[in-house]
Amino acid sequence: MTTSSLKKIGVYTSGGDAPGMNPAIRAAVRTALSQKVEVVGILNGYVGMIENRMITLQMRDMANIIQRGGTILKTGRSAEFMKPEYRATAANNLKAQGIDGLICIGGDGSFRGAQLLGAEHKIPIIGIPGTIDNDVYGTDDTIGFDTAVNTALQAIDKIRDTADSHDRIFIVEVMGRNSGWIASHVGLAGGAEEILTAENIISVDKIVENLKNSRARGKTSSIIITAEGQKPGRAYDLSDAIRKKSGLDAKVCILGHQQRGGTPSAHDRILASRLANAAVEALLAGRNNTMIGVQADKLVEIPLDLVTSKEKPGDKTLIHLARLLSI
Ligand code: ATP
Repeated sequence: MTTSSLKKIGVYTSGGDAPGMNPAIRAAVRTALSQKVEVVGILNGYVGMIENRMITLQMRDMANIIQRGGTILKTGRSAEFMKPEYRATAANNLKAQGIDGLICIGGDGSFRGAQLLGAEHKIPIIGIPGTIDNDVYGTDDTIGFDTAVNTALQAIDKIRDTADSHDRIFIVEVMGRNSGWIASHVGLAGGAEEILTAENIISVDKIVENLKNSRARGKTSSIIITAEGQKPGRAYDLSDAIRKKSGLDAKVCILGHQQRGGTPSAHDRILASRLANAAVEALLAGRNNTMIGVQADKLVEIPLDLVTSKEKPGDKTLIHLARLLSI
């Protein structure tokens, strides 16, 4: 028998899906069940919490999911959950199911919702960072980021072949609304000449100047990576602007939602397993309102207040290095 006072916990995935959420669910469920704590899966994140869509999870339900992309619990975004009355409905549903603790797998938005639910209804919650964007404060890495980077990189390697054959310029748009983490990693690993993110804005004049200089140095093809920013499709605007300024033709490729899917990488499966195991251990040990993250490859526990009140800056050194090495 467990020494924890918790008898039944709920697990849910929330916000954008990320490869590696399934290995995280598996690790959370099996860690809890092996300590004789029952587990309920809440479907579609806060949507299912409000609509009382919950299923009991057993050991064997976790079979053969470690390699699957997406999330077997489905995910969701809920505007209703922003309102206290809907959070009260969700809390009543949890209480009716006998759930006395929660594991939230998601990004900072999901953690904001978790904090409010926990504070208003006295439900202990531990967060696990699951988002392809890697934009969660307090952790070096998030579940799904590595897989998303590798998915984008595979596409960029193929684009590089055709760019080289036709002596072309390509603008490749990757995911990341506020976050330039995918762009900077993919850009460096993919040998990009320019990387544009919300934190690294480069004028069209400068891009044109750099492209002309690299052509003059004998470069025949170029890859520019842009994060989607607040306006997905911005790669087309950039291509138009480059054409108007210089007459140079820059082809556009928008990678889009394929970056969310696919088999999680070994790195993400290992990260997910470590984080989720530690999150359940922390919850059962009586801790609350924290996120399990990783810093310098060590697991850390950070208060959710800190996680949700601070921004994680992008890594500009990678962008500078990419530029330096693309000469
Ligand atoms: P990702 O960035 O990977 O998509 P995320 O968890 O940040 O993940 P969001 O869409 O920001 O994704 O948040 C997921 C859900 O969390 C929202 O749809 C909403 O239900 C809830 N949520 C977000 N912010 C708040 C908030 N301030 N108050 C209450 N609930 C919130």
